[in-house]
Amino acid sequence: MSETTIHELKSLLFSLIRCNTVNPPGNSREAIDLIAEYLKNTPADIKIIEAWDDKNKTYMYNLIAEYSTGSGKTLIFNGHHDVVPPGANWSYDPFKPVEENGWIIGRGASDMKGGIAAMVYAFKHLCENPDFKGKLVLSIVADEEIDSSAGTRYLLEKGLLKGDYAIVGESTGLNIVTARKGVIWVKIKTLGVAAHGSKPHLGVNAIEKMAKIIERLSKLRWSIRHPRLGKPTMNFGIIRGGTSINTVADECELLIDMRAIPGQKIEDIKKRICGEIEKIRLKDKDLKYEIELIDVFPPYEIDRKHKLVKIARKTVKEITGKTPKLLAKPGSSDVVFLAEKGIASIDLGPTGRNAHGANEAVNFESVAKLSEIYIKVAKRILK
Ligand SMILES: [Zn+2]
Repeated sequence: MSETTIHELKSLLFSLIRCNTVNPPGNSREAIDLIAEYLKNTPADIKIIEAWDDKNKTYMYNLIAEYSTGSGKTLIFNGHHDVVPPGANWSYDPFKPVEENGWIIGRGASDMKGGIAAMVYAFKHLCENPDFKGKLVLSIVADEEIDSSAGTRYLLEKGLLKGDYAIVGESTGLNIVTARKGVIWVKIKTLGVAAHGSKPHLGVNAIEKMAKIIERLSKLRWSIRHPRLGKPTMNFGIIRGGTSINTVADECELLIDMRAIPGQKIEDIKKRICGEIEKIRLKDKDLKYEIELIDVFPPYEIDRKHKLVKIARKTVKEITGKTPKLLAKPGSSDVVFLAEKGIASIDLGPTGRNAHGANEAVNFESVAKLSEIYIKVAKRILK
């Protein structure tokens, strides 16, 4: 990369970090306008798409830029512009980026404005030097840090984001993520009958009923294993119930965070949980309950021999001199929603540190290398 290019990429990254895109509220339009401005002299078709976010009662903003050289496949670059709140213990202003020993420090540097800068730069370069056949799509999205409902999920559901391949630029240390666990948030509510605390036999205690459910579910074992992600897990995250110490609780609510592995079907998981509760009910006719899936991020896996993985691997090796690892991660990313729609997708991003923590940083050399990788992968896959 030339000096001018390095300078351009770095100043793009600095400007992105300076935009305060903390989610919640996640309504910042500044980062989107900045990218639209950066791309305005390219031949790309740029759209800014607002999505109403009911959680924060605000609009969130997404950018989709497209450039096609004619018929062929479509490659999507995807990155989220929202960041988590800065939190405490920073040695710097989180929104005034600084460079130290090759690292750019600031909130979002690693998660994931480093990845965005590399893909925005790569997209611009590819539009100006269109040495590929097919269509390139840049999607810079909101709301990934909460649930993507006003970001990637919204765009996919509305049919505004379509393609054959997708690369998500979350920090991966220039490695490639090919599998992720899914997230299933389950709410169980038990319904009892209130009575005076001095006469509990006149009521039905919803907390006692929930205790039986917890005991049963905590013994639940899954026979399925993933070679790299291990077994599914379950965590009881929140429990709420009762109204006062001297009243028989008429309601109790439990929130479960279940992590599923590729190959597991969401419906089967729900059926299994319901089946366990039904077993308790066979012996306890007073058990009344409701169960609801409050959110689902599906498990994800791409074949490690898929064309996109092979091309990405070869390209990273050529540009960095190091063969990238193929990683399996317990956490989710927007990659899972893209893959759910049948788009062959991977995460491939820069080297970061302290994501979501104080003094978050990204290694600038990895961002520069990443933009070269993106350019080369696009040319190779769109052939
Ligand atoms: Zn992220």
